[in-house]
Amino acid sequence: MAIEDEIKQFFAAEEIHLPESMKLLIELKDKFNIPEFDADAILQSIKGDGEHAKKSRMYLRNRIRESLNACQRCPLYLSETHTQKVPGEGPLNSPLVLIGEGPGLDEDKQGRPFVGRAGQLLTTILDKLNISREKIYITNVIKCRPPQNRTPNKKEITACSHNLELELSMISPKVIIALGAVPLNYFKPGSSIMRERGRWITSRGYWIMPTFHPAYILRQQGKTLVKVKWAVWHDFNNALEKLTELYPEAISKISYNEKE
Ligand code: SF4
Repeated sequence: MAIEDEIKQFFAAEEIHLPESMKLLIELKDKFNIPEFDADAILQSIKGDGEHAKKSRMYLRNRIRESLNACQRCPLYLSETHTQKVPGEGPLNSPLVLIGEGPGLDEDKQGRPFVGRAGQLLTTILDKLNISREKIYITNVIKCRPPQNRTPNKKEITACSHNLELELSMISPKVIIALGAVPLNYFKPGSSIMRERGRWITSRGYWIMPTFHPAYILRQQGKTLVKVKWAVWHDFNNALEKLTELYPEAISKISYNEKE
């Protein structure tokens, strides 16, 4: 048999499983005639402000959502309190990503992350820092609301990691703020948010700042409330400082002052 035929036969017989992120990049490259071959270079080519880059990001966002909507990797999508999957929100070229635990009642109803009371508090914190919520990417570790808003279990988190990893691999953020124990443990298993908040974690090339979830702030009172608020304020400022250090133009890109 000729060598060409042998090679053809080999590839026809082998089922090649590429990661979904890789399949998406190949698809993107073909669809938008991106000349680069290397995955990092393809991603870089869609980070700019030009129309071509914006269109490719929009396409990518829709494909990530389609993939999420089809997800049946854990039973949470069958839960009685689940209405819809809640995808991450924001531009796929954001240098900063905020990650929470999972959707609550309001998020499940609206199909958007951080829209309940905790979300409003998060928006206020960002406003006070002059950061436009629309210019950063906000998502959760799991995308379906667990029954009675319980903490997602390990199996659910592992199952849903597919969706979070897909988002992160396309965004490749410089800095991540992990809001609460669930995202903290996603990156550093076996950690306590009480012990680790405010301390940098580096994992998979990301700088991760763990801090309290806004819902935790809302549950505090008196002196503890003041202490927790200052801790979160300090952590967000610390994250923004790191972001500036790693990528000096980042703040102007995500602040309200940047011209559209
Ligand atoms: S929680 Fe995540 S893994 Fe489970 S069904 Fe929903 S999207 Fe899929």
